[in-house]
Amino acid sequence: MRIDVLTLFPEALAPMLRIGVLGRALDAGLLTVALTNPRDFAHDRRRTVDDTPYGGGAGMVMRCEPLVEAIDSLINVNSLEHVILLSPRGRVFTQQVARELAGLRDMTLICARYEGVDERVSKQVVTDEISIGDYVLSGGEVAALVVVEAVSRMLPGVVGKWESVDTDSFYHGLLGPPQYTRPSLFRGDAAPSVLLEGNHAAIQRWRRKEALRATCARRPELLQQLSEEDLKLLAEIGAETPMTEKENES
Ligand code: SAH
Repeated sequence: MRIDVLTLFPEALAPMLRIGVLGRALDAGLLTVALTNPRDFAHDRRRTVDDTPYGGGAGMVMRCEPLVEAIDSLINVNSLEHVILLSPRGRVFTQQVARELAGLRDMTLICARYEGVDERVSKQVVTDEISIGDYVLSGGEVAALVVVEAVSRMLPGVVGKWESVDTDSFYHGLLGPPQYTRPSLFRGDAAPSVLLEGNHAAIQRWRRKEALRATCARRPELLQQLSEEDLKLLAEIGAETPMTEKENES
């Protein structure tokens, strides 16, 4: 997959692209992320990309020409069929949306700054708008990184063991189960013995049950399309002596 990101601050995004799972995926060529600065397409000597809003009011608006010309410049490397503006007005980004985007051959992400972009950019080149949540950031860069990281995890080969994606929160519509590592006893608090005993089926069942427990306690609205086995596990949870979630985790 190829992702083109338009940003006035490519130097801010570049280091985050180099680390961890994403960095390795880029090195291995499983994914390409290219950064384009609309400022390189500004028309004047001062390389202006913004201007005061028509009709007055606070802040500045990103001008059409540098952005649209930056997008035009990608014509030979990107299909430009999926040009996504990061915007608090967009559809809210979820794991489901990440999965949808991971199926694309390429996409272009536009990070805006100031008060946003001239509406004609949206009208002429943008095919989708995505918000990472109901709050306002000062720019789309952090939002673009959120999208790139979440989408990249779903590309074949990016996460070493597919199982880690498979047990990610939200992947199956549930929150992920709690995780433990050495030491088995920490300040009097023992890791659940089932995880240390090596019975794979029992571990799977425990993880599913704890994922259901966490989802039930924290995000009950996510509990949909439950299997027979899930209903059985939920019934078991319901029959347990009421404890606080904290106690349960120990
Ligand atoms: N005045 C605008 C906000 C501009 S914030 C409004 O009220 O809608 C500047 C830029 O940051 C936005 O254009 C967008 O690219 C980015 N941004 C801000 N909040 C965001 C969010 N929740 N999701 C995605 N991008 C966001």
